[in-house]
Amino acid sequence: MNATSKIARVSVHGGHSGQFCHHAHDSLEAVVRAYIDAGYTWVGITEHMPPLDDSSRYPDEVADGLSAESLQKRFIAYFEECRRLQTQFANTIRIFTSFETETYPGAFDYVKQLIKETRPDYIVGSVHHVDGIGIDYNRSHWEQALAKAGGLDLLYCRYFDAQYQMIRALEPAVVGHFDLIRIFDSNYMETLEIPDVRIRWVRNLALIKSLDLILDFNMRGFDKTAEQYPSMPILKEALRIGITVVPGDDSHGVSSVGRNYDRGVNLLAGLGHNCQWPKPRLYKWNQDLLSPGS
Ligand SMILES: [Zn+2]
Ligand SMILES: [Zn+2]
Repeated sequence: MNATSKIARVSVHGGHSGQFCHHAHDSLEAVVRAYIDAGYTWVGITEHMPPLDDSSRYPDEVADGLSAESLQKRFIAYFEECRRLQTQFANTIRIFTSFETETYPGAFDYVKQLIKETRPDYIVGSVHHVDGIGIDYNRSHWEQALAKAGGLDLLYCRYFDAQYQMIRALEPAVVGHFDLIRIFDSNYMETLEIPDVRIRWVRNLALIKSLDLILDFNMRGFDKTAEQYPSMPILKEALRIGITVVPGDDSHGVSSVGRNYDRGVNLLAGLGHNCQWPKPRLYKWNQDLLSPGS
């Protein structure tokens, strides 16, 4: 029996599926069944929000000729299917129907509109763009964002400023992959310590703490980079100031459900984390409509 076998399996950020996401795999039901088979207690299904318009589509969606309108319709279908699965498997696993945000210009108002229209259980606040350029799609896009920012330190500052504005504007129950900006920076440990950069991520953690939001302990980082998001210096500071840290596998199909879970939880336990996983704060739709964070 390994050390993590008695620790509940949960994911605060996961469940992208090929049915509703162009860069993921498998049907959503197959993904949910994989969580059940892996013994998960609860999981937040957090599909990406659809693009606001054709100019905010991901490159693979553009290449395959998917219009913003068709992706918006698919997002509504995602909510219907996820709610159906929530009910179908209610006796087996607690599913939350959620989505992950964007931050490009116009996105915040669109997120608020989507919250009103779809009534998610909660949202994951994520930043995938800096100054309108996607930073995690591939290295070439990240380098375009770097060139536009004018330097690594400036790129990180722009990213963490966008994240700060997103948290202020949306108060998402969960903040996703906190330091995704480092994805193509092999020297990120040094970049994170540049004073102008450090002051920003410390500020953002303080905001997360003051709003009592959950920080996604994102284990997809193990696949994409040397370690989880957030990286160790940020994680230690988050735990030091008492932020709630909960695992998210950020799964993009059956094969990534629960991947790296034991590795991640062993790491958290080694840092003194109690490995109790509070659930995200849910919207209370019958009481306070569109009141993020309540
Ligand atoms: Zn994705
Ligand atoms: Zn993401």
